Amino acid sequence: MDCPFCGIVTGRIPSKLLYQDDLVVAFRDISPQAPHHILVVPTTHISSLNEMKAKDESLIGHLVVVAIDLARREGFAENGYRMAINCGREGGQAVPHLHLHLLGGRQLNSSLG
Ligand code: 5GP
Ligand code: ZN
Repeated sequence: MDCPFCGIVTGRIPSKLLYQDDLVVAFRDISPQAPHHILVVPTTHISSLNEMKAKDESLIGHLVVVAIDLARREGFAENGYRMAINCGREGGQAVPHLHLHLLGGRQLNSSLG
């Protein structure tokens, strides 16, 4: 399957990982929307939030906890940050492999639209 994030997980697409464990990897967004823009991605191919099952509850929790740790490690946790998961066409999801955006390092505007 030609999924860019599976490519990063398997190493087929070389990238510098900021974090890696059995369940998730984290790396910098190729087109950052803020000084810090990190993606946290499950190692298994789950196409979107719509595919999540009850058994995946802890995986979503893990994505969030890893992102909080990265915000601390990268030094912007205190100033604040945003997490976002886009889902589907109207949710603005472009890459069909579940991912959590972690954005920080500038004042983000309050609009979600
Ligand atoms: P989405 O719109 O699906 O929520 O976000 C996809 C994000 O993935 C975008 O911010 C885009 O810049 C990023 N992205 C797409 N392809 C790649 C890639 O090959 N490498 C990295 N590091 N980021 C990517
Ligand atoms: Zn994938």
